[in-house]
Amino acid sequence: MLGGVVDRMDVRVAGCIVVGLGVGNTVSLPGLLVGREFSRAQFASVVSLITATNQVAFAFTPALMGILRDATGSYGAALALCLGLDAMAAGVVMMGRGRAAAGEVTSMLQLRPSCECCDRNLDPSSREAFICSFECTFCRDCTERILGGTCPNCRGELVRRPARPVEKQAKFPPSTERVFKPEGCQRVAAAAEHRP
Ligand SMILES: [Zn+2]
Ligand SMILES: [Zn+2]
Repeated sequence: MLGGVVDRMDVRVAGCIVVGLGVGNTVSLPGLLVGREFSRAQFASVVSLITATNQVAFAFTPALMGILRDATGSYGAALALCLGLDAMAAGVVMMGRGRAAAGEVTSMLQLRPSCECCDRNLDPSSREAFICSFECTFCRDCTERILGGTCPNCRGELVRRPARPVEKQAKFPPSTERVFKPEGCQRVAAAAEHRP
């Protein structure tokens, strides 16, 4: 009988039911949703936040449902509360999608805070920062004196990084992740020394 039901059902709906009822609901579904709705850089922190929130819910919700049942005499209110929260979550996802569709910037040039070779600070409005197409970032000194305008990681050209206007930096903050890989410059410098 179940087979007959599944035959008539859209395979995507069947998939949703299988994942939703099974362990995928807590294990794989959040990751799939986050992968769709957030950038790769945000993935780890968003999934961690979901896991932490889940643990709090797992710990306290059964007791809360019990209190609601005792207060109202049935599980109706508890069930309604859960349904309401689920509907709210779906609404939030739909709202976010609307905003993304309205052209909100979700990814932008990564403005790294420092030179990969000498670890000098490069602020987001600096005119002394140089990048390759992979956003490897160097200061002007390292770019011109050591690297000769070529990225030591990808061998692509280094060009001056456009400054982000100060008034945009609050809403579109620069990266805070310092990349320090002096080996790249050391290798290029050593190769230049050995050249006749
Ligand atoms: Zn440098
Ligand atoms: Zn590069």
